[in-house]
Amino acid sequence: FGLLQRQDPELAQVLLDELERVRGGLQLIASENFTSPAVLAALGSTLTNKYAEGYPGRRYYGGCEVVDRAERLAVDRARELFGAEHANVQPHSGATANLAAYAALLQPGDTMLAMALQHGGHLTHGSKVNFSGRWFDVVSYGVRRDSELIDYDEVRELALRHQPKLIVCGATAYPRLLDFAAFRGIADEVGAWLLADVAHPIGLMAGGAIPSAVPYADVVTFTTHKTLRGPRGGGILCTAELAARIDRAVFPFIQGGPLMHAVAAKAVAFGEAMRPDFGEHTRQVTANARALCDALAAEGMRPVAGGTDTHLALIDLRDLGVSGAEAERRCAAAGITLNRNAIPYDPEPPAVASGIRVGTACATTQGMGPEELKEVGMLVAQAVRDPGAAPAVRERVAALLAIHQPYLSEY
Ligand code: PLP
Repeated sequence: FGLLQRQDPELAQVLLDELERVRGGLQLIASENFTSPAVLAALGSTLTNKYAEGYPGRRYYGGCEVVDRAERLAVDRARELFGAEHANVQPHSGATANLAAYAALLQPGDTMLAMALQHGGHLTHGSKVNFSGRWFDVVSYGVRRDSELIDYDEVRELALRHQPKLIVCGATAYPRLLDFAAFRGIADEVGAWLLADVAHPIGLMAGGAIPSAVPYADVVTFTTHKTLRGPRGGGILCTAELAARIDRAVFPFIQGGPLMHAVAAKAVAFGEAMRPDFGEHTRQVTANARALCDALAAEGMRPVAGGTDTHLALIDLRDLGVSGAEAERRCAAAGITLNRNAIPYDPEPPAVASGIRVGTACATTQGMGPEELKEVGMLVAQAVRDPGAAPAVRERVAALLAIHQPYLSEY
């Protein structure tokens, strides 16, 4: 870092300011986490220089014998960690992993059934502004108005009516467990492939805090940077039957050379997730989410779907008369970073939204437990209710962070 500071002080200052931002506030964004220094070391390595189109032992460039070892480690560890028959660790992101999975299983114009964006699905699950909505005939399912839980009867009925070639389960803002067995049953009934996009909860599955999708889905797509606490990136797990199709879809169909520094960092993260303390960490993440959710509920902030089984909660703010966008601003002023989020059947447009989404992966990595998360819930409630409370909340946030710093040194 000293070298970077001497050569490019302007850019070095950006890194320092971001570190300062993270150290100076509570990070409750559900899709973020803090990687270990070991993951950062792999990311900042000379492996970024190496072109390695292809797969270990089958590259289109010379000199790949060393980076092959990194990819083999990543693949072997991913397969062992998740009990998967095959793993592809090259997708640059979660969106790219989904693109590759669709490319492996579908032709343009084919029908797929996935969760609606407004009910917690992801853009890549068929939104009109995304490739998925433009290239495929997408039928969407949602959650029930009363329970705010996935309506499996509706999923089955839509599957029987539209005969999709692919059913996608998984979401970006769904706080409850998914019934993968139910999705499997519906997919089998209509002869569809089942894809589980577990971008968010993959780390919790790795650590055993929640049940895994791997035994049920033909293909599992995931990100490595959320609850899995690795580098920014994606991955795909699949059955041996689909291995060659998935590999060809990632390269050469949608990607060129893999980011070998990121592949190496994924190997490090998988290695970390295989350790028993990671299992303990993931159970703490879910316990913390429950504590945060209960504290918010006690403050009159209603958890969508009645609570959480995962690392995240979705909070309906309509009873407080504060929009999601306004809550996001008020929390930012109080040193708390979170995001506005549409709630199911939201009367507001997404840019305003009636809810916020909170997650506990970052706070848990920082060493906080349920007692701290209970306080965090009270602080969020104070900040959302009263903009005048910002200075006092900021002070409490600083006191919490004084004990729970994410990064102790400059990388
Ligand atoms: N799928 C789901 C369910 C997600 O929540 C996300 C990201 O939030 C993605 C895919 C896309 O991941 P990325 O941002 O790495 O492309």
